[in-house]
Amino acid sequence: MTTYTAELDVEGRRVLLVGEGASLVGEATGLLAAGARLTIAAPAVPATVEDLASRGLLIWTGAGWGIPDLDTADLVVATTSDPALDAACRTARVWLVHRRTASPRRRNGAGRVTLVGGGPGDPGLLTVAGRDALAAADVVVCDRLAPVSALAGLDVEVVDVAKVPRGRSTSQEAINALLVERARSGQHVVRLKGGDGYVFGRGGEEAIACAAASVEVVVVPGVSSAIAGPALGGIPLTHRGLSQGFSVVSGHVAPDDPASTVDYGALARSGTTLVLLMAVATLPAILEALRDAGLPPTTPAATVADAGLPSQRVVRSTVAHLAETVQANGLGAPAITVVGEVAGLEPLGVRPQAHETPA
Ligand code: SAH
Repeated sequence: MTTYTAELDVEGRRVLLVGEGASLVGEATGLLAAGARLTIAAPAVPATVEDLASRGLLIWTGAGWGIPDLDTADLVVATTSDPALDAACRTARVWLVHRRTASPRRRNGAGRVTLVGGGPGDPGLLTVAGRDALAAADVVVCDRLAPVSALAGLDVEVVDVAKVPRGRSTSQEAINALLVERARSGQHVVRLKGGDGYVFGRGGEEAIACAAASVEVVVVPGVSSAIAGPALGGIPLTHRGLSQGFSVVSGHVAPDDPASTVDYGALARSGTTLVLLMAVATLPAILEALRDAGLPPTTPAATVADAGLPSQRVVRSTVAHLAETVQANGLGAPAITVVGEVAGLEPLGVRPQAHETPA
Protein backbone atom coordinates (compact mmCIF):
# COMPACT_ATOMS: atom_id res chain seq x y z
CA MET A 1 0.00 0.00 0.00
CA THR A 2 1.30 3.45 -0.88
CA THR A 3 0.58 6.06 1.79
CA TYR A 4 0.97 9.80 2.12
CA THR A 5 2.50 11.16 5.33
CA ALA A 6 1.18 14.38 6.82
CA GLU A 7 1.00 16.27 10.10
CA LEU A 8 -2.48 16.97 11.40
CA ASP A 9 -3.58 20.04 13.34
CA VAL A 10 -6.28 18.56 15.57
CA GLU A 11 -6.76 21.63 17.83
CA GLY A 12 -10.49 21.89 18.59
CA ARG A 13 -11.34 19.02 16.22
CA ARG A 14 -13.58 16.11 17.18
CA VAL A 15 -11.43 13.01 17.16
CA LEU A 16 -12.75 9.49 17.65
CA LEU A 17 -10.15 7.05 19.02
CA VAL A 18 -10.80 3.35 18.45
CA GLY A 19 -8.68 0.55 19.85
CA GLU A 20 -7.87 -1.47 22.89
CA GLY A 21 -5.30 -1.97 25.60
CA ALA A 22 -2.51 0.18 26.94
CA SER A 23 -1.77 1.73 23.53
CA LEU A 24 -4.83 3.92 24.13
CA VAL A 25 -2.98 5.73 26.93
CA GLY A 26 -0.30 7.35 24.79
CA GLU A 27 -2.68 8.07 21.90
CA ALA A 28 -5.38 9.58 24.12
CA THR A 29 -3.03 11.84 26.03
CA GLY A 30 -1.13 12.78 22.85
CA LEU A 31 -4.40 13.84 21.19
CA LEU A 32 -5.53 15.76 24.29
CA ALA A 33 -2.17 17.53 24.46
CA ALA A 34 -2.64 18.54 20.81
CA GLY A 35 -5.99 20.10 21.74
CA ALA A 36 -8.35 17.51 20.25
CA ARG A 37 -11.91 17.08 21.53
CA LEU A 38 -11.62 13.40 22.17
CA THR A 39 -14.12 10.55 22.25
CA ILE A 40 -12.95 6.98 22.79
CA ALA A 41 -15.05 4.11 21.45
CA ALA A 42 -13.90 0.96 23.24
CA PRO A 43 -15.66 -1.53 25.52
CA ALA A 44 -12.74 -1.42 27.98
CA VAL A 45 -9.95 1.11 28.58
CA PRO A 46 -6.84 1.25 30.81
CA ALA A 47 -7.22 2.87 34.25
CA THR A 48 -5.44 6.07 33.17
CA VAL A 49 -7.96 6.62 30.37
CA GLU A 50 -10.90 5.88 32.65
CA ASP A 51 -9.50 8.45 35.06
CA LEU A 52 -9.25 11.09 32.29
CA ALA A 53 -12.89 10.34 31.38
CA SER A 54 -14.05 10.66 34.99
CA ARG A 55 -12.27 14.04 35.18
CA GLY A 56 -14.24 15.18 32.11
CA LEU A 57 -11.16 15.55 29.91
CA LEU A 58 -12.46 13.10 27.29
CA ILE A 59 -15.61 11.09 26.54
CA TRP A 60 -15.47 7.32 26.81
CA THR A 61 -18.52 5.64 25.25
CA GLY A 62 -17.96 2.28 26.97
CA ALA A 63 -18.77 0.46 23.73
CA GLY A 64 -17.21 -0.33 20.36
CA TRP A 65 -17.55 2.15 17.47
CA GLY A 66 -20.80 2.66 15.61
CA ILE A 67 -21.86 4.63 12.53
CA PRO A 68 -23.24 7.56 14.64
CA ASP A 69 -19.74 7.94 16.21
CA LEU A 70 -18.26 8.39 12.73
CA ASP A 71 -20.87 10.96 11.70
CA THR A 72 -19.84 13.31 14.52
CA ALA A 73 -16.07 12.91 14.09
CA ASP A 74 -13.65 15.03 12.06
CA LEU A 75 -11.02 12.32 12.29
CA VAL A 76 -10.88 8.68 13.38
CA VAL A 77 -7.68 7.27 14.90
CA ALA A 78 -7.37 3.48 15.25
CA THR A 79 -4.74 1.54 17.17
CA THR A 80 -6.10 -1.82 15.96
CA SER A 81 -6.75 -2.84 12.39
CA ASP A 82 -10.39 -3.29 11.48
CA PRO A 83 -11.41 -3.53 7.79
CA ALA A 84 -15.05 -2.80 8.70
CA LEU A 85 -14.00 0.49 10.31
CA ASP A 86 -11.94 1.30 7.23
CA ALA A 87 -14.94 0.77 4.95
CA ALA A 88 -17.33 2.65 7.26
CA CYS A 89 -15.01 5.67 7.42
CA ARG A 90 -14.84 5.80 3.63
CA THR A 91 -18.64 5.68 3.43
CA ALA A 92 -18.96 8.36 6.14
CA ARG A 93 -16.28 10.41 4.33
CA VAL A 94 -14.19 10.81 7.47
CA TRP A 95 -10.41 10.32 7.60
CA LEU A 96 -9.08 7.23 9.35
CA VAL A 97 -5.51 7.26 10.65
CA HIS A 98 -3.85 4.02 11.74
CA ARG A 99 -1.38 4.13 14.62
CA ARG A 100 1.00 1.26 15.04
CA THR A 101 1.19 -0.37 18.48
CA ALA A 102 4.43 -1.88 19.66
CA SER A 103 4.69 -5.57 20.38
CA PRO A 104 6.75 -6.79 23.34
CA ARG A 105 10.49 -6.66 22.56
CA ARG A 106 13.09 -8.98 24.04
CA ARG A 107 16.83 -8.42 24.11
CA ASN A 108 19.80 -10.60 24.81
CA GLY A 109 21.76 -9.65 27.87
CA ALA A 110 20.85 -8.01 31.13
CA GLY A 111 17.80 -5.84 31.45
CA ARG A 112 17.50 -2.86 33.74
CA VAL A 113 15.00 -0.55 35.33
CA THR A 114 15.12 3.24 34.99
CA LEU A 115 12.92 5.11 37.43
CA VAL A 116 11.95 8.28 35.56
CA GLY A 117 10.32 11.23 37.28
CA GLY A 118 8.21 12.66 34.48
CA GLY A 119 7.30 16.09 35.85
CA PRO A 120 3.79 17.36 36.54
CA GLY A 121 2.14 16.25 33.30
CA ASP A 122 3.24 18.65 30.56
CA PRO A 123 5.67 16.64 28.36
CA GLY A 124 7.74 19.82 28.06
CA LEU A 125 8.61 19.42 31.73
CA LEU A 126 10.03 15.92 31.24
CA THR A 127 13.83 16.11 31.55
CA VAL A 128 16.13 15.39 28.60
CA ALA A 129 17.46 12.35 30.49
CA GLY A 130 13.89 11.15 31.02
CA ARG A 131 13.08 11.56 27.34
CA ASP A 132 16.25 9.68 26.35
CA ALA A 133 15.33 6.85 28.72
CA LEU A 134 11.87 6.60 27.12
CA ALA A 135 13.39 6.48 23.65
CA ALA A 136 15.63 3.57 24.72
CA ALA A 137 12.88 1.65 26.54
CA ASP A 138 11.36 -1.67 25.55
CA VAL A 139 8.50 -1.28 27.97
CA VAL A 140 7.14 1.70 29.92
CA VAL A 141 5.29 1.06 33.16
CA CYS A 142 3.27 4.22 33.73
CA ASP A 143 1.11 6.02 36.25
CA ARG A 144 -1.90 8.20 35.68
CA LEU A 145 -0.19 11.47 36.65
CA ALA A 146 2.89 10.78 34.48
CA PRO A 147 3.30 12.79 31.24
CA VAL A 148 1.89 9.87 29.26
CA SER A 149 1.39 12.09 26.20
CA ALA A 150 5.18 11.80 25.74
CA LEU A 151 4.51 8.17 24.78
CA ALA A 152 2.41 9.02 21.72
CA GLY A 153 4.17 7.80 18.62
CA LEU A 154 6.95 5.96 20.50
CA ASP A 155 7.50 2.36 19.45
CA VAL A 156 7.26 0.99 22.95
CA GLU A 157 5.02 -1.37 24.88
CA VAL A 158 3.03 0.45 27.59
CA VAL A 159 1.79 -1.13 30.80
CA ASP A 160 -0.67 1.04 32.72
CA VAL A 161 -0.49 0.48 36.48
CA ALA A 162 -2.38 3.62 37.47
CA LYS A 163 -3.71 3.89 40.98
CA VAL A 164 -6.93 5.85 40.60
CA PRO A 165 -8.15 7.38 43.90
CA ARG A 166 -11.14 5.33 45.00
CA GLY A 167 -10.93 3.48 41.65
CA ARG A 168 -8.95 0.75 39.95
CA SER A 169 -5.46 0.11 41.16
CA THR A 170 -2.50 -2.22 40.89
CA SER A 171 -0.83 -3.15 44.18
CA GLN A 172 2.68 -1.84 44.83
CA GLU A 173 3.87 -5.43 45.29
CA ALA A 174 2.54 -6.33 41.83
CA ILE A 175 4.27 -3.27 40.31
CA ASN A 176 7.59 -4.17 42.00
CA ALA A 177 7.27 -7.77 40.76
CA LEU A 178 6.49 -6.61 37.22
CA LEU A 179 9.57 -4.34 37.10
CA VAL A 180 11.83 -7.15 38.31
CA GLU A 181 10.31 -9.79 36.03
CA ARG A 182 10.56 -7.63 32.88
CA ALA A 183 14.16 -6.59 33.63
CA ARG A 184 15.12 -10.21 34.29
CA SER A 185 13.71 -11.15 30.88
CA GLY A 186 16.30 -8.74 29.42
CA GLN A 187 14.07 -5.73 28.79
CA HIS A 188 14.95 -2.08 29.32
CA VAL A 189 12.14 -1.04 31.62
CA VAL A 190 11.19 2.57 32.26
CA ARG A 191 9.03 3.21 35.30
CA LEU A 192 7.43 6.54 34.40
CA LYS A 193 5.88 8.55 37.22
CA GLY A 194 4.41 11.97 37.76
CA GLY A 195 6.67 14.60 39.30
CA ASP A 196 9.67 13.13 41.08
CA GLY A 197 9.58 9.44 41.92
CA TYR A 198 10.97 9.98 45.41
CA VAL A 199 8.37 12.59 46.41
CA PHE A 200 5.29 10.61 47.49
CA GLY A 201 5.94 8.35 44.50
CA ARG A 202 7.01 5.12 46.21
CA GLY A 203 10.12 5.21 44.03
CA GLY A 204 12.25 4.21 47.00
CA GLU A 205 10.29 0.99 47.41
CA GLU A 206 10.72 0.17 43.73
CA ALA A 207 14.46 0.85 43.87
CA ILE A 208 14.76 -1.40 46.94
CA ALA A 209 12.77 -4.18 45.24
CA CYS A 210 15.07 -4.03 42.19
CA ALA A 211 18.23 -3.99 44.29
CA ALA A 212 16.96 -6.92 46.36
CA ALA A 213 16.46 -8.87 43.14
CA SER A 214 19.92 -7.83 41.86
CA VAL A 215 18.34 -5.90 39.01
CA GLU A 216 20.25 -2.81 37.87
CA VAL A 217 18.26 0.30 38.71
CA VAL A 218 18.96 3.89 37.69
CA VAL A 219 17.10 6.98 38.91
CA VAL A 220 16.26 9.99 36.75
CA PRO A 221 14.91 12.74 39.02
CA GLY A 222 11.86 14.65 37.88
CA VAL A 223 10.36 18.08 38.34
CA SER A 224 8.08 17.59 41.34
CA SER A 225 4.59 19.05 41.19
CA ALA A 226 5.31 20.30 44.71
CA ILE A 227 7.58 22.92 43.15
CA ALA A 228 6.30 23.09 39.57
CA GLY A 229 2.61 23.31 40.54
CA PRO A 230 2.94 26.56 42.50
CA ALA A 231 5.32 27.99 39.85
CA LEU A 232 2.87 27.17 37.03
CA GLY A 233 0.15 28.85 39.10
CA GLY A 234 2.27 31.99 39.33
CA ILE A 235 3.52 31.49 42.91
CA PRO A 236 7.22 31.50 43.91
CA LEU A 237 7.72 29.23 46.94
CA THR A 238 10.39 31.43 48.49
CA HIS A 239 10.61 35.19 48.05
CA ARG A 240 13.03 37.65 49.58
CA GLY A 241 11.35 39.36 52.50
CA LEU A 242 8.35 36.99 52.51
CA SER A 243 9.49 33.40 52.98
CA GLN A 244 12.84 31.80 53.80
CA GLY A 245 11.78 28.23 53.06
CA PHE A 246 9.02 25.76 52.36
CA SER A 247 7.71 22.48 53.73
CA VAL A 248 6.06 19.87 51.51
CA VAL A 249 3.48 17.71 53.23
CA SER A 250 1.07 14.97 52.20
CA GLY A 251 -2.48 15.72 53.29
CA HIS A 252 -3.89 12.32 52.33
CA VAL A 253 -5.05 11.85 55.92
CA ALA A 254 -6.70 14.57 58.04
CA PRO A 255 -4.77 16.07 61.00
CA ASP A 256 -6.96 14.28 63.56
CA ASP A 257 -6.56 10.91 61.84
CA PRO A 258 -4.51 8.45 63.91
CA ALA A 259 -2.51 7.71 60.75
CA SER A 260 -1.33 11.33 60.45
CA THR A 261 2.22 11.93 61.70
CA VAL A 262 2.41 15.58 60.56
CA ASP A 263 2.84 18.26 63.25
CA TYR A 264 0.54 20.97 61.88
CA GLY A 265 1.20 23.16 64.94
CA ALA A 266 4.91 23.24 64.10
CA LEU A 267 4.10 24.02 60.47
CA ALA A 268 1.74 26.85 61.49
CA ARG A 269 4.56 28.42 63.55
CA SER A 270 7.34 27.76 61.03
CA GLY A 271 7.07 31.11 59.25
CA THR A 272 7.75 29.35 55.94
CA THR A 273 5.60 28.44 52.95
CA LEU A 274 3.53 25.27 53.27
CA VAL A 275 2.88 23.08 50.22
CA LEU A 276 0.12 20.49 50.52
CA LEU A 277 -0.17 17.51 48.19
CA MET A 278 -3.05 15.02 48.08
CA ALA A 279 -5.07 17.45 50.16
CA VAL A 280 -8.32 18.23 48.33
CA ALA A 281 -10.74 16.23 50.50
CA THR A 282 -8.84 17.06 53.70
CA LEU A 283 -8.35 20.78 52.92
CA PRO A 284 -11.02 22.13 55.32
CA ALA A 285 -9.63 20.06 58.23
CA ILE A 286 -6.00 20.98 57.49
CA LEU A 287 -6.69 24.71 57.21
CA GLU A 288 -8.68 24.55 60.43
CA ALA A 289 -5.81 22.79 62.23
CA LEU A 290 -3.41 25.51 61.03
CA ARG A 291 -5.78 28.24 62.26
CA ASP A 292 -6.24 26.48 65.60
CA ALA A 293 -2.45 26.44 65.94
CA GLY A 294 -2.31 30.21 65.52
CA LEU A 295 -1.86 30.79 61.79
CA PRO A 296 -3.75 34.04 61.03
CA PRO A 297 -6.93 33.34 58.99
CA THR A 298 -5.96 36.22 56.69
CA THR A 299 -2.82 34.34 55.54
CA PRO A 300 -2.92 34.05 51.74
CA ALA A 301 -3.53 30.55 50.33
CA ALA A 302 -4.01 29.23 46.80
CA THR A 303 -4.81 25.96 45.05
CA VAL A 304 -3.48 24.93 41.63
CA ALA A 305 -5.30 21.99 40.01
CA ASP A 306 -4.09 20.06 36.93
CA ALA A 307 -0.88 22.12 36.93
CA GLY A 308 0.83 22.13 33.56
CA LEU A 309 -2.10 20.49 31.79
CA PRO A 310 -4.47 22.26 29.39
CA SER A 311 -7.11 21.95 32.13
CA GLN A 312 -5.03 23.87 34.73
CA ARG A 313 -7.04 26.02 37.17
CA VAL A 314 -5.95 28.28 40.01
CA VAL A 315 -7.92 29.82 42.88
CA ARG A 316 -6.47 32.32 45.33
CA SER A 317 -7.95 33.14 48.69
CA THR A 318 -7.00 33.10 52.37
CA VAL A 319 -6.66 30.37 54.96
CA ALA A 320 -10.15 31.33 56.20
CA HIS A 321 -11.87 30.97 52.81
CA LEU A 322 -9.78 28.79 50.50
CA ALA A 323 -11.60 25.51 51.16
CA GLU A 324 -15.01 26.93 50.23
CA THR A 325 -13.53 28.76 47.20
CA VAL A 326 -11.96 25.54 45.92
CA GLN A 327 -15.26 23.75 46.31
CA ALA A 328 -17.35 26.56 44.79
CA ASN A 329 -15.10 26.57 41.73
CA GLY A 330 -15.23 22.79 41.36
CA LEU A 331 -11.47 22.22 41.60
CA GLY A 332 -10.50 18.58 42.17
CA ALA A 333 -7.46 16.34 42.34
CA PRO A 334 -4.69 16.44 41.33
CA ALA A 335 -4.15 19.73 43.09
CA ILE A 336 -1.46 21.55 45.08
CA THR A 337 -2.27 24.00 47.83
CA VAL A 338 0.18 26.73 48.85
CA VAL A 339 -0.24 28.45 52.21
CA GLY A 340 1.81 31.54 53.05
CA GLU A 341 2.51 35.15 52.13
CA VAL A 342 3.89 34.14 48.71
CA ALA A 343 0.35 33.05 47.71
CA GLY A 344 -0.70 36.70 48.05
CA LEU A 345 1.71 38.02 45.41
CA GLU A 346 0.36 39.05 42.02
CA PRO A 347 0.49 35.95 39.74
CA LEU A 348 3.98 35.84 38.23
CA GLY A 349 4.99 34.52 34.83
CA VAL A 350 1.76 32.63 34.16
CA ARG A 351 1.08 31.60 30.59
CA PRO A 352 -2.05 33.29 29.20
CA GLN A 353 -3.87 29.96 28.64
CA ALA A 354 -3.43 28.97 32.30
CA HIS A 355 -6.51 30.94 33.22
CA GLU A 356 -7.06 32.25 36.69
CA THR A 357 -10.33 31.90 38.55
CA PRO A 358 -10.91 34.95 40.75
CA ALA A 359 -11.41 34.13 44.44
N1 SAH B 1 5.59 12.25 42.78
C1 SAH B 1 4.63 13.32 42.56
C2 SAH B 1 3.60 13.40 43.65
C3 SAH B 1 2.71 12.17 43.73
S1 SAH B 1 1.45 12.31 44.94
C4 SAH B 1 5.39 14.63 42.39
O1 SAH B 1 6.56 14.75 42.73
O2 SAH B 1 4.78 15.58 41.87
C5 SAH B 1 0.10 12.88 43.96
C6 SAH B 1 -0.19 14.33 44.27
O3 SAH B 1 0.71 15.16 43.58
C7 SAH B 1 -1.56 14.80 43.84
O4 SAH B 1 -2.57 14.44 44.76
C8 SAH B 1 -1.35 16.28 43.78
O5 SAH B 1 -1.36 16.85 45.08
C9 SAH B 1 0.07 16.37 43.26
N2 SAH B 1 0.12 16.53 41.79
C10 SAH B 1 0.70 15.70 40.92
N3 SAH B 1 0.59 16.18 39.67
C11 SAH B 1 -0.07 17.36 39.77
C12 SAH B 1 -0.49 18.34 38.83
N4 SAH B 1 -0.25 18.22 37.53
N5 SAH B 1 -1.17 19.42 39.30
C13 SAH B 1 -1.41 19.58 40.61
N6 SAH B 1 -1.04 18.67 41.54
C14 SAH B 1 -0.37 17.59 41.12
